[in-house]
Formats: sequence, C-alpha cells, structure tokens
Amino acid sequence: MSDDLRASLPSVDRVLACLEGLPHALLVNCARDAVDEARTRITTGTPVEFETVVQDARRRCQELVDTMLGPVINATGVLLHTNLGRAPIGPAMLHAASGPVLGYSNLEYRMNEGVRGSRHEHAGALFALAVGAEAGMIVNNNAAGVLLSLAALARGKEVVVSRGELVEIGGGFRVPEIMAESGCRLVEVGTTNRTRLSDYQQALTNETALVLKVHSSNYRMVGFTEATSIGDLSRLGPPVMVDAGSGLLDENTPWLPARPTWLGDEPGVRQALEAGAALVTFSGDKLLGGPQAGVIVGNADVIATIGRHPLARAMRADKLTLAVLQQVACAYLDGDATRIPLWKYATQSRDELSERADRIRENLSYVKVVETEAVAGGGSLPGLTIPSIGVALEQGHVDDTLAALRKQGVVARAEDGRVICDLMTVDPADDKLLIAALKQSGKP
Ligand SMILES: *Cc1c(COP(=O)(O)O)cnc(C)c1O
Repeated sequence: MSDDLRASLPSVDRVLACLEGLPHALLVNCARDAVDEARTRITTGTPVEFETVVQDARRRCQELVDTMLGPVINATGVLLHTNLGRAPIGPAMLHAASGPVLGYSNLEYRMNEGVRGSRHEHAGALFALAVGAEAGMIVNNNAAGVLLSLAALARGKEVVVSRGELVEIGGGFRVPEIMAESGCRLVEVGTTNRTRLSDYQQALTNETALVLKVHSSNYRMVGFTEATSIGDLSRLGPPVMVDAGSGLLDENTPWLPARPTWLGDEPGVRQALEAGAALVTFSGDKLLGGPQAGVIVGNADVIATIGRHPLARAMRADKLTLAVLQQVACAYLDGDATRIPLWKYATQSRDELSERADRIRENLSYVKVVETEAVAGGGSLPGLTIPSIGVALEQGHVDDTLAALRKQGVVARAEDGRVICDLMTVDPADDKLLIAALKQSGKP
C-alpha cells in the first residue's frame, strides 16, 4: 500500500464526529466498521474519499436504527397484526396511564391501611367488575394465563377437552402441549367436528379436575358440526375453564353505539361466566385492545388458588402493563370503547375513511381510492372482513414499492398486482406521514 493511499484513510474519530442519532458506543462501532471497510479497499489499491467513508458509516447507523424497536405505520388493514405489535395503545391512553409509572406507585400497597396489597387489586379487579366476575388477575399473556390456570387447578389430574378444540393458535401455542407442560392429563373426547354432552359425561372420573373449552380463534369449522354449550358443560359437575382467546368482554358490545356486524358470532367473556364458567382466560392485546397481557377472571376461590401457585410469580405482569390495562378497563366501565384505538379504528364510518382517502388523492394524483377489506387479525375472527377504504398504487413493481414504503416506515400490502394502503389501521393523525411516504415511494 502506498503512503499516499494510507494517508487517505480517515481516523475513526474524524468519521465519528460526523455521526449522530445513536448512543455513542454504537456510533463508534459504525465509524470503525466503515474505516475498516475503507482500509480493505485501500489494500487493493483503491483510493478512498472521506465523504464516501462517512456515507458508509451513516448507512450502517441507519441499518442499526432500522433494527431497533420503533413506530411503524400499519397500512396493512390487519387491525391486530402480531408482527406489528397487535393492539395500538394511542397517546391519550398512554398519557393517562403514565402517572403510576413515572415514579413510585401503590402497586402492592394499600394506601388506606398502610399494609401490603396485591397487584391484582387494580386492573384485575376492574376487569372482573366489567364482566361480572367475582375476581380477576393479570399475567403476561393468555398463553401464561392458560398454563398457570391448568397448573394451579389440575396438575396431576385430568382435564377433559373436545377433539375439535385441540388447536394450535400460532407462535408455538398448541393446546395439547400447553396442557402437558402444566402437568395435567389431557382427556380427549368427541371427534374433530362433533362433540356432544354425552361424550364429556362418559369421560368424567374422580380424577377430573376441569372441563376445558377452547375458543378455536384462528380457524372456523363449517358443515356437519356440533359443539356443547358452556351452560350444558357447567351442569356436569367439575368446574369449566374457558380459554376465550380474543377477549371480547361482552358479545353485545354495550360500550359501542352499535354492535359491529363483522364481529359475527364471536362469544363474550361475560356470557361465558353467565353460562356457568368458573374461570375465563383471554388476551389483553387482541379484541380487548390493550397491551400484551393475559386476563383471568372467575370465581374468587379459583382466582385465589391460581394466585397462590408458585408459577404466578413467574408470570405476573409489570406495572407498565397494569397501568395501561387499568385505563383500558376504565374505558369499558365508562361505556366508551372508542377511547381504545382498536375500537376507534374499527368503527370509523365509511364517510370518514372516504374523506381521508380523498384528501390523500388530492395530494397525490397517481393514487386511486379503492374499497378494501380489513381484518381483525391476531388469530381473531377468521373469515370475517371489515369493509374499509384505502389508496392503491398501481405503477411500478409491487415489491419495489413495498420496500420503498418500508424505508419510510410504512407497512402496506400487495393485492391483485398493486400496492394497497388500507386506511382503517392508519391513525388519522398519521395521514400526513403516509402522504409524505407515498410521495417518496410511489412516484411513477
Ligand atoms: C391468542 C390465543 C392464545 C394465546 O394468547 P396470547 O395472549 O397471544 O399468549 C391462547 N388461546 C387462544 C384461544 C387464543 O386465541
């Protein structure tokens, strides 16, 4: 390597001085990697420009930023997109929840008595109230809720489940495997498509700890099918546990002006309890519209038994989660679920969506306003779609346009050879950002 070439290699410090926007140690890594790369090029006899090395370092910084947890605009029309964080929380709810999180809180302390309390006395109790249960508690997610409940109530004993409900929810949650992990013995009854009350009846023994009913969530059976109601099961004797999955608190949605037709026959948690379930578990971040959590509601003695199990400690929710969930519970108790972004998005009127789409079109002559079908997602409401409106980009290669949009922080979807941005899942406050991203990415 000639001295001239060697002299053209900038120092890490000089490159570093041109970088910003990441913690120092990460900027140093990017600067060093870029200088190393330049050194390799010099050994092959290629001179390097200072600006080129800085650009390379900046590209490395950007790549790093892209891997960090950050906001995206969800233009997929999938309301509960598991890869995009499921239910959005929204600034109002997060702000309202910030009080107990900013400093100390009464997380496990009863202020009026000055004694130790329980972290289940806040959100857990409020959700119990919202569905008419005696007690409630919060764990990390519904998978934890199911595992913990089975371990606490049925370890070493038998749990009777219909063969039609031995489902895989996705992401490794398979009912038979979770049951095995909990230490209970699975007793399968009925057939894939039909399970009658008598099937359950014949399976009951002295060893039966629970009858389990699992919401099939992400798939739907049609045709020659038969399932046994929670009401009938609860008259058999053993307590009935329901894994409700999505967490629709009440199938009549009294906290919305009208029940959305796209909810189909999605069952409610309140109705499962009214029918006689001893406990119901569900997710915090599916149709409940909150943060990742599992909610367990039911009879006081059952919830107390679950709370005493050693695994409860390993699965307990954090104060951040509990603070946000408390706000979610309050919105339901206030009868106003539109404070919850999921329900606000999902119940936007056609006119609102239309107006927003028209405004985007006014800014960008080359997009087309199109009717779309949004979905609940997150393994909820399979086969059911929500009529929505979006904008379509028809020019250019679909994959290139999608990649360009991702660079601007927008995840869209491909459909019929074009790119669609569904407006149902985009917060109206983000329309400006979406327009800017479309300007950058979609130009013919
Ligand atoms: C989604 C789901 C789960 C898992 O819930 P997570 O909160 O994602 O852990 C379990 N059971 C059913 C029926 C579900 O739909």
